[in-house]
Amino acid sequence: MIKAAEKIGRPVVLQKYGGTSVATAEHIRRVAQRVVARKREGNAVVVVVSAMGKTTDQLVSLSREINQRPPWREMDMLLHAGEIISASLLAMAIEKEGEPAISFTGAQAGMITDASHTRARIQRVQADRIVEDLGRGRIVVITGFQGITADHEVTTLGRGGSDTSAVAFAAGIGANECEILTDVDGVYTADPRVVENPRKLGWCSYDEMLEMASLGARVLHSRSVEIARRFDVPLLVASSFHEAAGTWICSKERGEKEFSDMETVSVRGVAHNSNVAKISLVDVPDHPGVAAGIFTTLSRYNVQILLIVQAEHRGGANDISFLVSAETLVHVEPHLHDLAKEIGASRVVIDDQVGTVSIVGDGIQSDPSIAARMFSSLAKEGINIDLISSSNLMLACAVPKKRLEDAVRAIHREFLE
Ligand code: ASP
Ligand code: MG
Repeated sequence: MIKAAEKIGRPVVLQKYGGTSVATAEHIRRVAQRVVARKREGNAVVVVVSAMGKTTDQLVSLSREINQRPPWREMDMLLHAGEIISASLLAMAIEKEGEPAISFTGAQAGMITDASHTRARIQRVQADRIVEDLGRGRIVVITGFQGITADHEVTTLGRGGSDTSAVAFAAGIGANECEILTDVDGVYTADPRVVENPRKLGWCSYDEMLEMASLGARVLHSRSVEIARRFDVPLLVASSFHEAAGTWICSKERGEKEFSDMETVSVRGVAHNSNVAKISLVDVPDHPGVAAGIFTTLSRYNVQILLIVQAEHRGGANDISFLVSAETLVHVEPHLHDLAKEIGASRVVIDDQVGTVSIVGDGIQSDPSIAARMFSSLAKEGINIDLISSSNLMLACAVPKKRLEDAVRAIHREFLE
């Protein structure tokens, strides 16, 4: 990893702007002004951009008009073009504001990935060229969401992948911070579309953010937070439209040191996910290897399991329930009856009328009153809990989908209002 700041003698800031922030020429001009202002404060600035507005969606639908099953490689050739447009326009806009700028594709900027087209994994970032241009006083603008393989094939990282690009470049050059500037102005204690007065968090830890993301909060691409945690790159999620303070995502140690007086709660936020389905295998024989069989089969179909619950056995049999995301249900469903037969379960029950509501926070397990309060707040609303699962960072309940938003509000009121 290059410590760019040391080479250049100035702090290095990486800013990422999402699609809505660069949706029109006017938006791009405003972003350019903001980038230039950051540089004039004395920083070296690298910018990672998404494609303008809905460009990527439009390119996807265009491809479908031509070929329902386009080759993955050609999808990458097509989709990576969106970010090239926004990056070059932004570089021009920055020049117009009076600062030198240069735009790079992911390939030119040294983003090396594996060859899995449309969902490539990052292998490394070769950031020499970025650092060289920063050293010359330029603002470097890089296309998000894309890279290149060792064989010079263009790849993309999967939808929403620009966050991940941004954090990888920040880690690769050793940037002092990575600002994710977007259409929301931070991470909230609950989804503002569901809860009336959620609070914006001053900070949360990488682990809490990952947990919230996996439990349904849609703020950042999870892979970006994983990279940030691994290389300890503090992330700021803030608005690209105004200057209000955002939310820092950083290590627990740093967060507690720098923000300790601001928050002392053990429940950081409430997450929910209505996009799930519950699968129960009923009366599964209770002997070693059965769970292994089930989940080996599911992993073969590449099904991501969100939560698994096995209850206490009675009469030599267990019920095993698990949640999958609703979209994957169509892939698993055809195999479930065979699976049940294979392991000797008496039947399979599929329920897509459930959702999960979860609390996330670092202190959840250490305070036994928290579970009691969560369940009581649901009981008071007459909401039945279907499944419960917990870890040291979260406590999740499956509840009927039609009561999910009431559940979020009740729990938020209990812990965060
Ligand atoms: N343009 C890509 C997408 O819409 C990547 C991104 O925006 O992060 O998925
Ligand atoms: Mg996008």
